Amino acid sequence: MKYTAHPDRYKKMRYNRCGKSGLLLPAISLGLWHNFGDDVPHQTKVDICTSAFDLGITHFDLANNYGPPPGSAEKAFGRILKEEFAGLRDELILSSKSGYLMWDGPYGEWGSRKNMIASCDQSLRRLGVDYVDIFYSHRFDPETPLQETMQALDQLVRSGKALYVGVSSYNAARTREAYAILQELGTPFVIHQPSYSMLNRWVETDGLLDTLEDIGVGSIVFSPLAQGMLTNKYLQDIPQGSRASQSKSLSTSFLSEENLGRVKALNQIAEERGQTLAQMAIAWVLRDKRVTSALIGASKPQQVVDCVGALERLDFSQGELAAIDRYALD
Ligand code: NDP
Repeated sequence: MKYTAHPDRYKKMRYNRCGKSGLLLPAISLGLWHNFGDDVPHQTKVDICTSAFDLGITHFDLANNYGPPPGSAEKAFGRILKEEFAGLRDELILSSKSGYLMWDGPYGEWGSRKNMIASCDQSLRRLGVDYVDIFYSHRFDPETPLQETMQALDQLVRSGKALYVGVSSYNAARTREAYAILQELGTPFVIHQPSYSMLNRWVETDGLLDTLEDIGVGSIVFSPLAQGMLTNKYLQDIPQGSRASQSKSLSTSFLSEENLGRVKALNQIAEERGQTLAQMAIAWVLRDKRVTSALIGASKPQQVVDCVGALERLDFSQGELAAIDRYALD
């Protein structure tokens, strides 16, 4: 049956300004790193994406290499765009990235102009679109002059293939350097994509969030649920089909007795707040106004619904924050 977008989709979601740009992003965005490869039935992908859109999630995050195999997540989303989201392109913010290994030979990864332009062209073909809204340098390339990587991003904007650009996982010092180059070029550098969660706070200690605030660039933080650890799913055992059960990117070694003890304590705090742990983990990253959007992943539509429920309780008392730190920090 043909998908019809829910008429109330914009009623509950919050849209946050991305740094000092004109771009508004949903407080919760959906990433297609896992669960959108050829190993997952297409209908599951459709159900996840349409559930997200019906809840006001307008931003879908991709990269050249998401799959497996690499490229298949973009192809699957391209099909969804054509078959389900036809006519909705102007309501969507699509992003892609280049930097990790994508094809054989010396040009298949990192940050040369050769790689970035070819990779973006490939992504546009897989997605079946003329442009992406945001294109990222997926990782800092220590061998290529930063000037060249940034010029490639600038060229993508000037040639109409990307509306905005961003960097991912660059530390504070490199972000500042990138900003200076992009300012000079007049390129719309509006967003940074770092990891951030109650268990992973490098963006605070490195000074990245301070830097972003200073230069007026927004942030979309990936893996706010620590890949599923900050949910109630591993409290009893390792469920069949979960990321940890498939030895994907979440190793069962993270699920040590000590870590699970912390997660149980955090789950208790979430329950006292009347939330699931996933909802509290999302609310926690969004408590910092420098965070524009929490970038989640999902293997089922119901997970998206649960995560969006985080918006019903975003405030924290000082006591709750201190209790979270007691269990989440080493
Ligand atoms: P999360 O921390 O949100 O983990 C997602 C996983 O958590 C899901 O696959 C699911 O696990 C579980 N989950 C989600 N919601 C719930 C829920 N309500 N209850 C129980 N379990 C839940 O993020 P990801 O690690 O998936 O990363 C999100 C996105 O960030 C990626 O898709 C990608 O777009 C981006 N990213 C970017 C990177 C970069 O280098 N720039 C690196 C990594 C991610 P399960 O599958 O086991 O059911």
